[in-house]
Amino acid sequence: MTNNGDHIYDGDYSNYNPHFHIPPTHPRAQSLLIREMLVDGYRKGLVASEGLIAHGRGEAFDYLLGEKTSSMAQCAIEAATSALLLSKFPVISVNGNLVALCAKNIVELSHLIGAKIEVNLFYRTIKRESLIKKELERFGAKEILGVTSSASAVIPELQSERRRVDPKGIMKADTVLVPLEDGDRTEALVKMGKIVVAIDLNPGSRTARSANITIVDNAIRAIPKMIMVVRKLKDLERKQREMVMKRIVKEYDNHKNLIESLSVMRGNIKGS
Ligand code: ATP
Ligand code: MG
Repeated sequence: MTNNGDHIYDGDYSNYNPHFHIPPTHPRAQSLLIREMLVDGYRKGLVASEGLIAHGRGEAFDYLLGEKTSSMAQCAIEAATSALLLSKFPVISVNGNLVALCAKNIVELSHLIGAKIEVNLFYRTIKRESLIKKELERFGAKEILGVTSSASAVIPELQSERRRVDPKGIMKADTVLVPLEDGDRTEALVKMGKIVVAIDLNPGSRTARSANITIVDNAIRAIPKMIMVVRKLKDLERKQREMVMKRIVKEYDNHKNLIESLSVMRGNIKGS
């Protein structure tokens, strides 16, 4: 395999061919593979150098989580998916890390829940946002919002580049899925009256604490699981599905979920 970044990659890490040969029996194989996907995304210009460091912060929490989806995360995944399906105008906000990890699944989820995809970057450059757009289009995305001049609306009170949003997307949305988000913007979106669904490995981050529903899991595992939940819900007859989804959302308690996710991590530290 060459080290020139043009190897086969279909956006799904189970079929991913990394630059370096990671023996499948290596105890950290999956984690190393995910790192390679980020580095590959960086080489392609999708991921900002700072994004690699942000991944490291997430990786540390994933280590404490035992690198698997907890029952609390599964519960949040079901609530998140239901909230997105129940909403009138859902939008998935994407950044470089997310696209490097799960572009294909993001596009599939957006089709299944009828959500728009919008690019939103902390380190925004025209080059990077258009590379992200192209990567998502490669997996079948038809419309990508928030690129170049279309991110013309501004979230009040925010200073970072993350304040720039699309008036046809996040600005208009009733529910926003924000994987790997910055706390400032999560707080601002909640203040604007939007339902915010976050995917964040750190249960103590401002994002995790201020979102309405927080999935404490790696986005690379959470997004495919959301797809599975949509499929299961779609098997139900429409009226029954609505009833089930409303009940799931009503019974969900984000504060409790975060405390329990933290206690999984604490338990893993004690057990090690
Ligand atoms: P906040 O701004 O919400 O307080 P932060 O400043 O600590 O959080 P940021 O750098 O703004 O963190 O965003 C990175 C966040 O994304 C971190 O909380 C990190 O744990 C999380 N993260 C990184 N990679 C992943 C991943 N693959 N899946 C889920 N979460 C991740
Ligand atoms: Mg932050």
